[in-house]
Amino acid sequence: MSNVPQSLKMTEAMAADLVATYKHLHANPELSMQEQQTADYLAARLESLGLEVFRCGGTGVVGVLRNGAGPVIGFRADTDGLPVLEDTGLDYASKATGTLEDGTEVPVMHACGHDTHMATALKTAELYAQGTDDWAGTIVFILQPGEEVGAGAKAMIEDGLWDKAPKPEVIYGQHVMNGLAGTVATMEGAAMTTADSYRVTVFGQGSHGSMPEHSIDPIVLGAAMVMRLQTIVSRQVAPQSAAVVTIGSFHSGLKENVIPDRAVFTLNVRTFEAEVRETVLASIKRIIAMEAAASGAPEPLIEDLSHFPPLYNDPAQTALLIEQFRDEFGAEQVLPGSPVMGSEDFGALASALGVPSVFWFFGGNTAQTLAAGPPPANHSPFFAPVIEPTLSTGVQAAVRALYSKVGK
Ligand code: ZN
Ligand code: ZN
Repeated sequence: MSNVPQSLKMTEAMAADLVATYKHLHANPELSMQEQQTADYLAARLESLGLEVFRCGGTGVVGVLRNGAGPVIGFRADTDGLPVLEDTGLDYASKATGTLEDGTEVPVMHACGHDTHMATALKTAELYAQGTDDWAGTIVFILQPGEEVGAGAKAMIEDGLWDKAPKPEVIYGQHVMNGLAGTVATMEGAAMTTADSYRVTVFGQGSHGSMPEHSIDPIVLGAAMVMRLQTIVSRQVAPQSAAVVTIGSFHSGLKENVIPDRAVFTLNVRTFEAEVRETVLASIKRIIAMEAAASGAPEPLIEDLSHFPPLYNDPAQTALLIEQFRDEFGAEQVLPGSPVMGSEDFGALASALGVPSVFWFFGGNTAQTLAAGPPPANHSPFFAPVIEPTLSTGVQAAVRALYSKVGK
């Protein structure tokens, strides 16, 4: 195990540019799969460093840095913001707006910290572009759009990512999370869940509120579905397994004396194990169909919204990386990660190639913030990682992970 040489460490000027880059990206977020300006910015920065740059999957950007014979390693950062109204009060807060697919104008914020991922990836690329005497091989920087909707990795793969870019033997990625800034966390095996989302349209029969006998009330029917769906996790999933079934929206009706003719709800399912996923999804479909039949209603429409693959950290590669991080940061700064019920489409990039991948988290909070109680988490309008040492830890972790493969 060898330490990262001086040529791959940031100077003061680079650290200052890292912060400026981050603030620029933070103030200019874009919605998933609409990251046009962001992609232009990232491509221009990578081109100026001398990387071979190409677009992939619409707003995806790939930067290939070749430096002689050696291993090919992938590093991924995601690029999208969220439809969240920023309420951090920071002087670099976002005032951006965007338009959702259905035409709704919404505020946009980098509320998941993907700006930290992009800024640290750019600085990592800069370090490797400069310090070419101390490493050999090829690094593929994958700036992936649309993580929040589970569409970006898929779009890049379908657009021929791995036909166009050199094929890495391992792919790394990282995510900022609540935790002490300066620490990193990861674990072997299942790290994040599979997520499946659906929209369900329940068809009833509208009527006057005073004449329920002429109706099939979609609110009563939908409510029965919602309640019964809650029994899947408690009655059909073994207590040792983890699963979540959340109905995140339910809309029906406009007026108290009109029985509407339909109800629409959306649901989100999280699982770790493939068999548990199959059981839960089959139960959902069965309950929805059978509750409708019990009410004499037509078969409801179930539409796919998104699917996220599981995130699996290759055990052998993760063990190697944990050793590298312990050496880099000190053992006490490397925390044992625990599986989270969140989801990521990062895993799809490696599974499309059949190569291992490792994903880790880096903390974004000061000790004082953490002591005051749980800070606002990712996706909160108040999500505000402390800039340093969060950003430099992200750079250091990325540089070290790559150096463990391509270092001389
Ligand atoms: Zn997110
Ligand atoms: Zn995220």
